[in-house]
Amino acid sequence: MPDAARPPRHVLILGGTTEARRLAAALAPGATGRPEPAGVPEPAEGAEPVPSPEPALRVTTSLAGRVAAPRLPAGEVRIGGFGGPEGLARWLREHAVDALIDATHPFADTISHNAALAAATAHVPLLAVRRPGWVPGPGDTWYQVTSLDEAAAALPALGSRIFLTTGRMGLAHFAHLTDPWFLVRSVDAPEPPHPPRMEVLLDRGPFTVEGERALLRTHRIDVLVTKDSGAAATAAKLTAAREAGVPVVVVRRPPVPDGVPVAADPDGAVNWLREVFSEAGSH
Ligand code: NAP
Repeated sequence: MPDAARPPRHVLILGGTTEARRLAAALAPGATGRPEPAGVPEPAEGAEPVPSPEPALRVTTSLAGRVAAPRLPAGEVRIGGFGGPEGLARWLREHAVDALIDATHPFADTISHNAALAAATAHVPLLAVRRPGWVPGPGDTWYQVTSLDEAAAALPALGSRIFLTTGRMGLAHFAHLTDPWFLVRSVDAPEPPHPPRMEVLLDRGPFTVEGERALLRTHRIDVLVTKDSGAAATAAKLTAAREAGVPVVVVRRPPVPDGVPVAADPDGAVNWLREVFSEAGSH
């Protein structure tokens, strides 16, 4: 039974993803769950949204502050780094956080490790939300690599007009490639170092197959480079590449830190919270 005398339980979501915004919309009191833009698949038709484990949760989402105009989630929002795992552990204690959910991007490796350390230090239960990765299908020509450096090393043998969709932060890994031409797509403008021959396309998903087809054709792309983000909103480029016979260099994900339980989607995270809170009982 909820105890009227105790303050609402506090959930901290490490965000920056569609899943984090969906989770905040599902949990934050009074939130109606703002619709995501077209192209982002909703839960299966007929599926009931999983109800929040408690009606009066306090929900804070943390954003790194990388994007100039981020899409803001429901509930409270804080922006900027914590100052390493120690800073995050301090924040958890000072703000009386009852559960931590790492819903960051699958490639945001540092903050995920910081979350694991901080949660252990502050004795706060932690869950990672990780959407499933992409898998190659018939007709795909994928070269799977484990880092941006490996992707860069593979490129000269594969093509000379490269569509690079790995984000502006990793461009330095390709800066030494002076011969190929790059189409670089990012949310905000990249800064040097970057490859000398490039055109920048400022855009953010969701993207359509028609749009991606047109990009490949117009720019005569002969290789696509992507991280295995696994997001539906950015999967259209893989379909367009398959159709056009364009090979894809896919950077595989870093693993989730040891011992951290994983949910594949926001509903899984809500169910995990319910279990955690019922085990904890009243304060
Ligand atoms: P990262 O390399 O794992 O983290 C670097 C540092 O940024 C962390 O040590 C932390 O600083 C701070 N940070 C990262 N995420 C944070 C968050 N949600 N709230 C507060 N501080 C955060 O992270 P990244 O790959 O640069 O990604 C940054 C953000 O962009 C993440 O929120 C992620 O979800 C989002 N994002 C990343 C990608 C990608 O491809 N990496 C793609 C789309 C969105 P302190 O040590 O000072 O705490």
